[in-house]
Amino acid sequence: MGNSFKTYLKHTYKDFNFRSVNPPLVRTSTMVFKSMNDLRKLQKKNKKNPRGGYFEYGRQGTSTTHELEKILTNLEEAHYTFLTPTGFGAVFLSLFSILRPGDEIILADPIYSPTRLLSENYLKEFDIEAKFYDPNNLNTIKTKLTKKTKLIYVENPGSNTFEFQDLGSILKIAKKYKIYTAIDNTWGTPYFIKPIKLGFDMSIVSATKYYSGHSDVMGGSLAVSKRIFKKVMEAQNMTGLRLSPDDAYLIMRGIRTLDVRLDKHQENANIVAKFLSKKKNIKVLYPIVKGSKNFKLWKKYYSGSSGLMGIKIKAKNKKFVDKFVNSLSLFGHGYSWGGFESLALHQEIREQGNRKFLNLNKNEYIVRLHIGLEDPVDLINDINKSLKYIK
Ligand SMILES: *Cc1c(COP(=O)(O)O)cnc(C)c1O
Repeated sequence: MGNSFKTYLKHTYKDFNFRSVNPPLVRTSTMVFKSMNDLRKLQKKNKKNPRGGYFEYGRQGTSTTHELEKILTNLEEAHYTFLTPTGFGAVFLSLFSILRPGDEIILADPIYSPTRLLSENYLKEFDIEAKFYDPNNLNTIKTKLTKKTKLIYVENPGSNTFEFQDLGSILKIAKKYKIYTAIDNTWGTPYFIKPIKLGFDMSIVSATKYYSGHSDVMGGSLAVSKRIFKKVMEAQNMTGLRLSPDDAYLIMRGIRTLDVRLDKHQENANIVAKFLSKKKNIKVLYPIVKGSKNFKLWKKYYSGSSGLMGIKIKAKNKKFVDKFVNSLSLFGHGYSWGGFESLALHQEIREQGNRKFLNLNKNEYIVRLHIGLEDPVDLINDINKSLKYIK
């Protein structure tokens, strides 16, 4: 990359042919060649240097998607980055690339719930067994390993409950037993942590979230290490998963300001988390309590924290929690996050698959907050006026 991350994001493209500071948006299904000979020449180049930008057909991408692949590969400091039409498409591709009938996979217990449904229910039909480890006790990985284990799948921090895990220890186990590793890094993005550099084989980011940043496009990226590149490429060729050039263009437009937005999300989230941590009946699930296990494990691997947090609320029943959420006026109630705006959801974790290591008492509820780019004083005032509904 040469220059710093921040500078690189502003200088990712300069096509002085057209005096354009942005790459052209190239839409095409058919690529035309002057002759059969011309086509065969390109096919030869493509075989020799796969994903090097030699396109025979639109399903492989166009120069626009190729630009985004290059930018993300630089940010991730990875060997290559595959693009998918959604973040979940990248999750699917990571599993589809590695797992075959008879194999086993070990996943973090608090993974994104669609990832859980896919691995726990759907993979079973293909004779692939999913096992889950306790993010607070990594020995549970070792006890579940067998000769059939092909992949350890991490999400950090855990979905909704925000446990930070000792990533180095997980990688050590994987290395010792020669198992591939994947991590869902949507929360941290490569701005705060670079999983491929740490030693992961695959790093998933939902581009729908902070990369695009404007809640107007969906996409996913799967960055890979050199040793796994060919496996994933062959799998992707078989899936037909392709990000449209229009969506790639929007994600590139968003990513120019990834650092600026994430710095501000972090600042706002810290202000809100500090305010909430002083309230009784609330435990903030965000790395701000110095000395805590989560803080130490976050600090060990991350250079910053994003805008998504959980709050564990003690309440007599869930009606009071819903009342609190419903009375927030600056927080929208809806899925996704990573856009400019604040969001709040009461997460019914007990109903989202069979979490096996869920430390949640009967009178405890989890609300997920995405802290947006609004004035944090307004956000705190909004939360403060709604807290009175929690009983
Ligand atoms: C949103 C999300 C995904 C899926 O991304 P989509 O773009 O919505 O398909 C995967 N993992 C995590 C952690 C997410 O938050």
